Amino acid sequence: SIVVVGSLNMDLIVRVPRHPVPGETLLGSDYETHPGGKGANQAVAAARMGGKVRMIGRVGQDAFGTQLRQGLRHAGINVHAILPIHGPTGVAFIAVSDAGQNTIIVSPGANTQLYPENLSVAEFEGAKVVVLQLEIPVKTVVRAAQLAREVGATVILNAAPASPLSPQKLALMDVLVVNETEAEALTNQKPDSPEAALEVAHSLQQHVPKVIITLGAQGAVWVEAGSSGYQPAFPVESVDSTGAGDAFIGALAVALAEGQPLAQAVRLGAAAGAMATTVVGAQPSLPRRDSLKRWL
Ligand code: ADP
Repeated sequence: SIVVVGSLNMDLIVRVPRHPVPGETLLGSDYETHPGGKGANQAVAAARMGGKVRMIGRVGQDAFGTQLRQGLRHAGINVHAILPIHGPTGVAFIAVSDAGQNTIIVSPGANTQLYPENLSVAEFEGAKVVVLQLEIPVKTVVRAAQLAREVGATVILNAAPASPLSPQKLALMDVLVVNETEAEALTNQKPDSPEAALEVAHSLQQHVPKVIITLGAQGAVWVEAGSSGYQPAFPVESVDSTGAGDAFIGALAVALAEGQPLAQAVRLGAAAGAMATTVVGAQPSLPRRDSLKRWL
């Protein structure tokens, strides 16, 4: 099975004619709520790709918390380790202007209260793959990686949102997945072409056995001991890139749990990412395995 340790957020989205300046009040559209958080999105992505998924996380004792937990349960995810704590659920306030630009304020809420001591090895028993991101405390990410290693699981770190990490922390991971911005935060090098990305991936591979850099419409590169490669993007009519990265991670996790080689897992990830850009939204755009197969 696949265990995701990470964030759950409710995204609150409002459309505005333009972004307000400090001190200004603007009228926006009716707001919409959309379940999000990188952890939850990647758990749903893996479940849609046919993975047996468990998620470990924290929500608040409020309506958003209940809604997020139920949403994941309906997606077929084991939610027993998603516990409600005292305090508010994580939310993201997103304003989308008519010019198509977003401003986003994340209030991480309950996600900050998933502590290392809350994790036990029993929760990782039977896991083939453990998926981590950086929207929960980094100490908890480190502990989760250690426990995952104890049970022999493959540890995937999606080092998002972008932040620097010590070589010691990177060394706890088996697979590192970053986009261009996240790669730059780790290395101070900008992977602005597939060639440059391969070089950056090689330098990160000194710390992590397998490294993948996703390049949006340019596809992805991967490096492991003794081999590397470039996966071009699948050509699509993309309407919204939200969710592409999460679709990629979910598909990658399922493929690796099935024992597929890295190159094939990256190919499935790239296909899922491409398909996710053809539908608006994060979780609604995450493809199912059967429709992805038909599409391929
Ligand atoms: P993130 O959302 O984390 O920034 P990317 O934008 O790099 O991630 O997207 C993840 C993967 O999804 C890419 O490696 C690529 O394979 C696929 N993808 C993203 N955008 C497109 C696109 N416009 N066309 C085709 N594939 C895409």
